[in-house]
Amino acid sequence: MAGYYHRIDAIRNAANLKPVLGWRESDSVTAIPHQQPLPAPDVPLLALDTLWFQVAGTLCNIECTHCFISSSPTNRSHEMLTLADVEIRLAEARRLGVRDYYFTGGEPFMNRDMLAILETTLKQGPATVLTNGMLLRPELCRELRELFDRSEYSLDLRVSLDGFDAESHDAIRGKGVWERVMKGLRNLAGVGLNPVITVTEAAEGVGSAEGRTRFLEVIRGFGFARPRLKVLSLFRIGAEETRSHGYEEWERLSMDGLTPVDAATLQCSSSRMVTSRGVYVCPILIAEPAARMGETIADTLRPFALRYGACHTCWVDGVNCRT
Ligand code: SF4
Repeated sequence: MAGYYHRIDAIRNAANLKPVLGWRESDSVTAIPHQQPLPAPDVPLLALDTLWFQVAGTLCNIECTHCFISSSPTNRSHEMLTLADVEIRLAEARRLGVRDYYFTGGEPFMNRDMLAILETTLKQGPATVLTNGMLLRPELCRELRELFDRSEYSLDLRVSLDGFDAESHDAIRGKGVWERVMKGLRNLAGVGLNPVITVTEAAEGVGSAEGRTRFLEVIRGFGFARPRLKVLSLFRIGAEETRSHGYEEWERLSMDGLTPVDAATLQCSSSRMVTSRGVYVCPILIAEPAARMGETIADTLRPFALRYGACHTCWVDGVNCRT
């Protein structure tokens, strides 16, 4: 714990280095000439194990109040990827030795190419799809099961929930969403697919031991005898910044350096994110222009400066978006 408090002190000290009062996160991106961004430690790319695809762009069939990239039915900041887009990056990923693949959005199953994309991906590595569960109709679940059965590599699904019941869940995800997700989860259980249920700490009490126990009971109730649960921290950017609040200026990583062991705990030391606008450092910062590291994956094989409040959350909470 001593090391932890030392690091927090260092973070607070770094805030005192702030050269201009009123410095904002976006200033580092817009490069206002008389204002300099806070110094920030670089994270090296230690290995490229994981490749993410923003396969649905920022388009989603719902509009969650905590979405850190503000996905919605109308947000076209990032467009959907086509099968051809994905194939180009998969070929590059194979040459670079990527081990596994994640697909997110927005809502991935809004992408009409999604099944074909999974079929292609599963020829070269394991794949995980992050979904809100609303489009998991019986026929789609059957097709996913068939794909699961005939693939050499594993196919996994993650379904997001944000409450123990319809009232708490729909307060964040929208009216009627709980019912549709329940149907989707039962359809998955019906074909014998056991997804990881992801919950964010927006769900009251879920972070506690009692909350997790209660959530596991809820998941069993959907028909999953061996429930799988992943609790995710909230990133106070995008819609979540409005729902709660943004980052304080002291919530930044300090310049006392990241050891390789420290860096290995951050997903940006071993992954990159493919979007319609190029390749970004990670799945969290796709609204930050400076987090776009290049057009191709090969352009991004270099360190990245961790100057964002979200990086502080990754470090302090030990967040990793992988399953
Ligand atoms: S937000 Fe997290 S994963 Fe993204 S660059 Fe910062 S530390 Fe790395």
